[in-house]
Amino acid sequence: MRIKRDNRVVILVICIILICTVASLGFKTHGEVEEIVQEQFSEQQLLLARQAALGIASFAEERVTIIEILARDRSGDEITNLTRCFKTIYEKTSGFYSIEFIDRNGVVVYGYPEYRAPVGYDLYAENRSSAFDSARDSRKTNISRPTLLFEGGLGSFIWVPVYEGENFRGVILAIIRMSTITDRFLTPIMQNRTGYVYMIDNKGKSLFEGAGKKAIGKNYIKMLNKNSTSDGWLEILNEQMNGSEGTAVYHEEGEKSNLDQIVAFAPVRWRNQLWSVAISVPASEVDHLIRSVYARQMIFLGTVIAIILGGSLGLIMMFSRWNKTLEAEVKSKTADMIRMNKELVLTNERLKELDKLKSDFVSMVSHELKTPLAAMRTSAQVLNMRDAGEKTKREMLDIILRNIDRQTNLVNDLLDLSRIESGRMELKIGSVPLDSVIADSIESVKQAAMEKGIKLDVDLPEGISPVKGDREKLTQVITNLLTNAIKFTPRSGEISIKAHDLDGQVEVKVRDTGIGIAPEDLDMVFEKFYQVDSTSTREAGGTGLGLAICKGIIEAHNGRIWAESELGKGSTFIFWLPKWAGGKNG
Ligand code: ADP
Repeated sequence: MRIKRDNRVVILVICIILICTVASLGFKTHGEVEEIVQEQFSEQQLLLARQAALGIASFAEERVTIIEILARDRSGDEITNLTRCFKTIYEKTSGFYSIEFIDRNGVVVYGYPEYRAPVGYDLYAENRSSAFDSARDSRKTNISRPTLLFEGGLGSFIWVPVYEGENFRGVILAIIRMSTITDRFLTPIMQNRTGYVYMIDNKGKSLFEGAGKKAIGKNYIKMLNKNSTSDGWLEILNEQMNGSEGTAVYHEEGEKSNLDQIVAFAPVRWRNQLWSVAISVPASEVDHLIRSVYARQMIFLGTVIAIILGGSLGLIMMFSRWNKTLEAEVKSKTADMIRMNKELVLTNERLKELDKLKSDFVSMVSHELKTPLAAMRTSAQVLNMRDAGEKTKREMLDIILRNIDRQTNLVNDLLDLSRIESGRMELKIGSVPLDSVIADSIESVKQAAMEKGIKLDVDLPEGISPVKGDREKLTQVITNLLTNAIKFTPRSGEISIKAHDLDGQVEVKVRDTGIGIAPEDLDMVFEKFYQVDSTSTREAGGTGLGLAICKGIIEAHNGRIWAESELGKGSTFIFWLPKWAGGKNG
């Protein structure tokens, strides 16, 4: 149980550490990602602005070059030859509002499309000749700042001088419509996006206004000064007017929004012109992007945490399964060990008993051999004395004979037991009448009972069945039981011997009013050499072989023998023997 809980705690701690690490890494990269996304986004806007600026510059440059080539190639031609090309150029090249020819006196003499050409318009008379003069005097293309066109919208005026050698012939004025440029390069940038694009020139004048503020042609700077709602935009406009390139953030307080705007701006340089394209996008666009990155990050983080949790759960389950198996194994092993221990304790007790029996046997045998020998020796010495009287001599001879009998009995008992144990005991089976066997037995113990004043009572029913057995051996059994009863019954006690028929068997009971046997000794008394360990038993002497021999004899007759007793109240030894079933040998 302890191991299981410890494992769970360890896994949980590891799991929490892993989750914390992953989460802190996630939050760290979270911040970094925010910065990177913002940077990347601004960079991307700047690229777009730069791309548009380059597109516009090359578009305008291309148109100027076409007019310059025309002015150079056709400088010696008739004016009508030169102006005839205007139509082709106008139709083949987009972006022109009109192409006009102004003669050396500053009067518009031709233009295409004709309806747009103010033929007869005299620049000097209208006092608008400065760009014309500048082109003529410098002999170079002069581009004037975008100006409002008659039809509305802005136009960029390109003044290209036509010189035939030193001979000034006039100026080709090509007007590029600004909306063609912005439609092509600026409007597409903001399709399907929030934010807007604008373009200003180097004086802060609006050339294109994607937000539709209708400010085209007006000056931003003046508008801002009047109504300064946008923090930081003025600086951005200044940067733009200087021709710088970059990204910046300004705060715009509009009707709908109160937002930071990210602005990326890039200069448009062509000839003497300096314009600036700017893309202004609400910072929320970036937030949007960041949020989508966050979402992906959270999914990743969630997946990692789920994997960690799943892994930990798996580990915990695996460990608890291991623990269960281990616990079951430990339980069964412990049970095995307890059982083996009990067996060992039992075996040990049994060995101790056997050891005790062995030493008891050795001391008993040596005692039983020595005592008669000593008695016989003393008696023999007395017999050897010259002055021993006749009576003494007889007594000594009696003692010698009794002791010879005692030793003979012991040796016989030992021989009997060894025959029983080796299965070599021979039985002379026949029909044995119990009354005569009991009578014989009583006859041999009568003297001893009388000496102790013990009453012997026999109760045999008339016509009791004879048993199947060896008469001599059965007499030995009953005599032994009676001898024990006399031995363990105090003076003036009573002994009874009863027999009666059972179904197929005859039961014989030898009861005494003696010292009794303790319950734990009841079965043991039939073991060889076993003697109840008490003073009265010791006083009675004996070999501990008698009951073992009785048991061996009864069991050899297919009977059974057991004892019932109560300490201090007496004992009863009972045995059953099969009845004699007739015939010569049963
Ligand atoms: P022995 O009598 O020679 O000691 P037994 O085998 O005849 O050997 O008896 C074994 C033991 O059983 C005895 O020592 C005695 O302790 C006990 N025992 C036998 N018979 C009786 C009895 N009738 N009453 C009490 N104890 C008995």
